[in-house]
Amino acid sequence: MTATEALRGGQTDGAALAGKVAIVTGGASGLGRATALALAQAGARVVVADVDAGAGREVADLVGGAFRACDVSDLDANRALVDFAQEEYGGVDIAFLNAGVMTGCGVGEDFDLARYRRAMGANLDGVVFGTHAVLPALRARGGGAIVATASLAGLAAVPLDPLYGANKHAVVGLARSLGPALAPDNVRFNAVCPGYAESRIIDPLRGMLSEQEMPIIPAEVVADTVLRIVTGDSTGECWFVQAGREPEPFRFR
Ligand code: NAD
Repeated sequence: MTATEALRGGQTDGAALAGKVAIVTGGASGLGRATALALAQAGARVVVADVDAGAGREVADLVGGAFRACDVSDLDANRALVDFAQEEYGGVDIAFLNAGVMTGCGVGEDFDLARYRRAMGANLDGVVFGTHAVLPALRARGGGAIVATASLAGLAAVPLDPLYGANKHAVVGLARSLGPALAPDNVRFNAVCPGYAESRIIDPLRGMLSEQEMPIIPAEVVADTVLRIVTGDSTGECWFVQAGREPEPFRFR
């Protein structure tokens, strides 16, 4: 039984993360929603942050947490989110910096630069600004865990959307470098790198995925991987999540 199934069944033992406070960006939908449920089931108090206030509030209600509207591409909004979590729950121990978009920026001279800015804003600035905003709060608690959502697109070439690949590779690079850099602060920084996972972000790709008989990873498997990272001791790792395989840190050559 996954953590999320256990929460839905009312079996909240609350052990592993009891007393911890978690922020989940992009928590209104897909992987963020599933992870908010998993963190809450493990006992954490969860602040759901998203630009989608309607769905975000629903998830917050579901996990008995709080909602904060936040556009992660805005530094001040990230700071306000952390302030909110501290006021609401007294501190922050975990940040799942997950909000993201796949805008389809095009290729070569046809790059759509407005879409590029939007994608970089959510997928890369969201992680950098989120980290910048949350670090003082984590240090104030004596340490903590940050998990950023990268992607298989951060580990392999993405010919269909090179700019999505570029911002996800940047998140992978951040995880590899920030992991060791933040160790003296007792802050662990890892990335989660799912292949195609069940969420609305893959809607435009569903035809291609079914044609190629590509398996889709349940969102709960990604959520359970994030939980495993948060409760483990790894840092600077990029956890590759594939369908039908045990998640594991990606081994760079
Ligand atoms: P999703 O569309 O279901 O969820 C993304 C959430 O992020 C939405 O609730 C959206 O409102 C929110 N969001 C978007 N831009 C935002 C912003 N600027 N500020 C705050 N919130 C914002 O898709 P998902 O698949 O759950 O995406 C979550 C993350 O997973 C993304 O970073 C995505 O790139 C990554 N990812 C997804 C897959 C997949 O196959 N689903 C695979 C690898 C990585």
